[in-house]
Amino acid sequence: MMLDGFYGNTALKNRLKASIKAGTLSHALLIEGEKGLGVGFLSRLIAASVLCERGGCGECLSCRKAMRSIHPDIITLDRQGEAIKVDDIRYIGETAAFYPNDAERKVYIIKHAEKMNAAAQNALLKLLEEPPSFVTFILCTENRYKLLDTVLSRCVCLKVYPVSADEVTKYLTSHEGMKPAEAQSLSELSYGFIGRALTLQGKRELKRDSERREFCLEFSETLCFGREYDFLKLSKRFTSERDKIKKENEDPALMFDMTERLLSDVLHVLRGFPVLSYSSERERLLRLGGRLTEQKISRLYMLCEDAKQQISRNINFNACINTFLVRAWEAIND
Ligand SMILES: [Zn+2]
Repeated sequence: MMLDGFYGNTALKNRLKASIKAGTLSHALLIEGEKGLGVGFLSRLIAASVLCERGGCGECLSCRKAMRSIHPDIITLDRQGEAIKVDDIRYIGETAAFYPNDAERKVYIIKHAEKMNAAAQNALLKLLEEPPSFVTFILCTENRYKLLDTVLSRCVCLKVYPVSADEVTKYLTSHEGMKPAEAQSLSELSYGFIGRALTLQGKRELKRDSERREFCLEFSETLCFGREYDFLKLSKRFTSERDKIKKENEDPALMFDMTERLLSDVLHVLRGFPVLSYSSERERLLRLGGRLTEQKISRLYMLCEDAKQQISRNINFNACINTFLVRAWEAIND
């Protein structure tokens, strides 16, 4: 069952599965849960299960359409946290009267339902009181107390809770392909919020990415403006950067991919084109551009390609780096 794809919250899932199977699911659900608990995801799983002939098999066309957010009978109102106005609800009221396209029913999901102003809530209340027989409403909210009592009284209210740290770890390893050690450290920081773990993961990756970019910028600057003594230290820095990258299970040739992107950005700056990868570093690109001609850039680019090839062939890393640095130094100071 698709609902099993939602982590933790076993009692809630069992209740939902039972009522979907029996055909007794309320026509108005309110799902409450803090940000990062997957309320939106759960609402989509419920909608898919309601529309599937087999109660949410996860395999039929209807389920697949639902999970790709292209099912014509699942209509989502998502104002991304902006106010939901009475016109939004009136529109729902007008379209709700039409029969479903594919399925026997249609489902309206209203995200951030607490953002409905009073007029919108009253309009919704009318709909909930006399809904078309084939419509299910799912209201998602972080805080149900921001909704009118009259609206709440028309809904079956469900609450999503954080999951155990073990379950977060399990999710991260099985769905995100993360290594157990990393998954565990993230799950400890996520307090049972899978969404929070994913955000943290994204932030970590961003941080690593910006560290790597900084490395490429620094060594390019040293090559362009440094003295020979600085240049000797570079080889050591390359080795330690390589070790970090290897620890993260990535290809050390990555350093040269990023350097190539840097070079092409310097070229873009010189030609007055938009900068693609290092856009926040325009000043530094310009300074590098002052030292590099297009010809030098293309020679450096070729040297990066050579280095990538040699690293991929497992030729001694330090030897590769030293060759690269010597040739790059010559190319720039030619
Ligand atoms: Zn199905």
